[in-house]
Amino acid sequence: MTWMTIPAGAAFDAWTLPYGVFSTPGEEPRVGVAVGDHVLDLAPLAAVEGLDGAHLFAQPTLNPFLAAGRRAWDAVRDWLIELVTEEPHRDLVEPHLVPAGQVSLHRPFDVGDYVDFYASQTHAENVGRIFRPDSPALPAAWRHLPIGYHGRAGTVVTSGTPVVRPSGLRRVGPPAEGRVEHGPSLRLDIEAEAGFVVGAPSQLGRPVPVADFTEHVFGMVLVNDWSARDIQAFEYVPLGPFLGKSFATSISPWVVPLAALAHARVEPPERSPEPADYLRDAEPWGLDLEFAVSWNGTVVSRPPFAGMYWTPAQQLAHLTANGASVRTGDLFASGTVSGPRPGGSGCFLELTWNGTEPVTLADGSQRAFLDDGDTVTIEATAAGPGGTRIPLGAVTGQISPTPSP
Ligand code: CA
Repeated sequence: MTWMTIPAGAAFDAWTLPYGVFSTPGEEPRVGVAVGDHVLDLAPLAAVEGLDGAHLFAQPTLNPFLAAGRRAWDAVRDWLIELVTEEPHRDLVEPHLVPAGQVSLHRPFDVGDYVDFYASQTHAENVGRIFRPDSPALPAAWRHLPIGYHGRAGTVVTSGTPVVRPSGLRRVGPPAEGRVEHGPSLRLDIEAEAGFVVGAPSQLGRPVPVADFTEHVFGMVLVNDWSARDIQAFEYVPLGPFLGKSFATSISPWVVPLAALAHARVEPPERSPEPADYLRDAEPWGLDLEFAVSWNGTVVSRPPFAGMYWTPAQQLAHLTANGASVRTGDLFASGTVSGPRPGGSGCFLELTWNGTEPVTLADGSQRAFLDDGDTVTIEATAAGPGGTRIPLGAVTGQISPTPSP
């Protein structure tokens, strides 16, 4: 319970307590925590309280706080929960609450390396059927290891940043004719994903065991991995996604700490074959998250995260299994969240079956892929305390036309 008034429809509750970077007119960007429809200005509050590490919040990125590690993250969250739940703190806290409508939000952390995985079996099978109809739907290695690729950290942008339609090369007509043309993507798509943010770095040469997931990963963001399917389909063999993905990846401005997801943890699905020893679950890190994808305001799908085959703990163990290290600010994303039931597709390639089954939006218009001016918003909730569902925020982006040459 909280002494704060949380209006219906507020972006957050008093439990999620996500971290971001905000500014008010004429003042420098700094770290804040979203609670209800306010942002708690952490730096002056922590200074008044004499909190260890108060200086970590007077920064234009979360990185210094992310680097502080699990004990510091937990101590600050315990302090915040006490502040918002115990009435005697009201007079201390209230002067530092800024109405959310008065702040600008910035990219919450400097992104180090960016990796994107491919952990939904439904998504992997559907993409296989669409892109490689003559081959087995699942790649041979898929059930043995979390397949991923290294993406482009420099083009990870904050929610609200316009997404410019990319141009590229694509095949025209049957493959046997060998015709190729260059132009703005005609099959611009989204991918709804969860992204995991590394706080404490690991050592080069030392794999991170599955059991050490919470020592290194601070929290999660919502991710839209914008994807140009025509460019991707032509370029991706044999080395994987390149220009069809690297033009933009949007993340939500608020980073939800792992601790807020304590009630959302569920057993992952059964794996067959049994994963290699370094990928065996130490603790269950399946997550009961529900996504909602809106296309120009019409909810077109509600992808469920709980059935994802590989967990983020396994993904971190895998991406460091060869001794590659992770750094503060590294981001790894789950892969498109698609569930097996109708209405659970996390991308439009699946939702419209490569454009052959268009969807109708609330204004009566039909879509197969994204038009210029279209806006996509991905929201999510997680299982929270006492059977509630807690909000995890939103990531949104609007398509801008390809600039003229
Ligand atoms: Ca992806």
